[in-house]
Amino acid sequence: MSTDIENNKPDVYSDFHLQYIAGEWQDGKDDTVNTDTNPYNGDTLVKIQQATSEQLDEAYQAATVAQKEWAQTTPAERSAVMYNVVRILDQRKDEIVNWLIKESGSTRIKAMVEINSARSITLEAATFPNRVHGEIRPSNTPGKEHFIYREPIGVVAVISPWNFPLHLTQRSIAPALALGNAVVLKPASDTPITGGLLLAKIFEEAGLPKGLLNVVVGAGSEIGDAIVTHEIPSFVSFTGSTSVGKHIGELANGGDYLKQVALELGGNSPFVVLKDADVDQAVKAAVFGKFLHQGQICIAINRIIVEDEIYDDFVERFLAHVKTLKVGDPSKEDTAVGPIINEKQVKSLKEKIAKAQESGANMILSGEIDGQVVPPHIFTEVTREMDLSCNEVFGPLVGIIRAKDEDEALSIANDSMYGLSSAVFTSDMQKGLRFARGIRAGMTHINDVSVNDESHVPFGGEKNSGIGRFNGEWVLEEFTRTHWISMQNKPRQYPF
Ligand code: NAD
Repeated sequence: MSTDIENNKPDVYSDFHLQYIAGEWQDGKDDTVNTDTNPYNGDTLVKIQQATSEQLDEAYQAATVAQKEWAQTTPAERSAVMYNVVRILDQRKDEIVNWLIKESGSTRIKAMVEINSARSITLEAATFPNRVHGEIRPSNTPGKEHFIYREPIGVVAVISPWNFPLHLTQRSIAPALALGNAVVLKPASDTPITGGLLLAKIFEEAGLPKGLLNVVVGAGSEIGDAIVTHEIPSFVSFTGSTSVGKHIGELANGGDYLKQVALELGGNSPFVVLKDADVDQAVKAAVFGKFLHQGQICIAINRIIVEDEIYDDFVERFLAHVKTLKVGDPSKEDTAVGPIINEKQVKSLKEKIAKAQESGANMILSGEIDGQVVPPHIFTEVTREMDLSCNEVFGPLVGIIRAKDEDEALSIANDSMYGLSSAVFTSDMQKGLRFARGIRAGMTHINDVSVNDESHVPFGGEKNSGIGRFNGEWVLEEFTRTHWISMQNKPRQYPF
């Protein structure tokens, strides 16, 4: 690593037009190019010649070789690499935050949330090598003992999305690597740097041996299916939309080789405000939980459900607070709502706005869409049947639904094919707990936003929101395999 000696700072990373395969930075060999742009001003950040399926194969072969040695290293050696990554994340915080702003359209506030989450899961992963343990169990067969070993899986395929690219990639690759696996990663096309190449630079600097982490930037049509169906990976960790996730699940189990999958998919988080809630606090939470990263978060608030008695009061205060949000340039310190990731998403939001109006929702706040910056839109008198309620919005639009009482609020909250995160506001904690336990979701937060993620508690969804859990011992189990070994200590009597 070269350093700027005067300032004692490492040189900023460069050469993001290259792929990271088999521990080497190499040109992509496909004839297509990924043009990575800044979603706020359209500037071209880098052009990446994409990878071919032969390069994907090279990555898998290298990962297989490297993993065998890596699995033999001591827990302390693997932990040390993770601690080095934490140090580099701290040292290069400004550089990384700037990439998150210019590549993924993160506001400065969101970029800080993201880098802190990535740091936290890396610290957690540093503890994993020493937390892997087996079991000895008695047997019902005389003279036998059972040993249950936890082993690395081998090579893991990781496919990650563009919305929290650094963290959502890191929460798969750091645990996978810490637990003795190798990784082949395909970042989202909108965020090849923050979702992949930047992490490759960091792990390389941290001393991760060559071949263990491969970042393959390629077109879905060239490597999309192959990354899953390739013979080598026995586990696929996918984070993204429900439609693509279902396709990945089918591919993983419909081809020649069966693969385990972890699918972290879309959400439709309800945010319920019961009549005894602290309305001011609920409003503050609703605004943050809805508009952080322009609402492009799987666990963002998608439906606000308010009990009839306080509905009008809540709407009035919510509107007033949203009107104060600064919208626009994500690099400015006080911007709350920045740009949408790409044109396609902006188009989908315009369609949702039109549909909401056509279906009779009352639009009480709107604004001009400027390039890819979509200002907050608020709709009231939204019903559970409307598109805004049934589908994931993934943008700064929100519908507020009126519930006649607590029972109806719960019924609306559960009326979704998704079950990722959720939240309920009430001043009665027992009621809150009862309500929370009635929600069919992987995560429910009482008197807080639905946007919560800590590296030691289980993150994941029910229903169409996915299969599997991240963080803590839950991900430790995901990225290891169980091997039952029995030992017959004295000759067993067989019936024939
Ligand atoms: P997406 O499904 O379009 O893409 C996700 C990843 O899959 C990208 O890397 C993409 O290039 C890749 N991909 C697309 N088609 C593929 C194919 N045929 N084969 C292999 N890979 C393919 O999702 P997105 O638009 O990047 O992200 C937004 C979605 O992700 C939202 O629905 C959001 O809720 C969800 N999400 C879920 C979580 C979670 O933890 N549950 C977290 C973040 C985002």
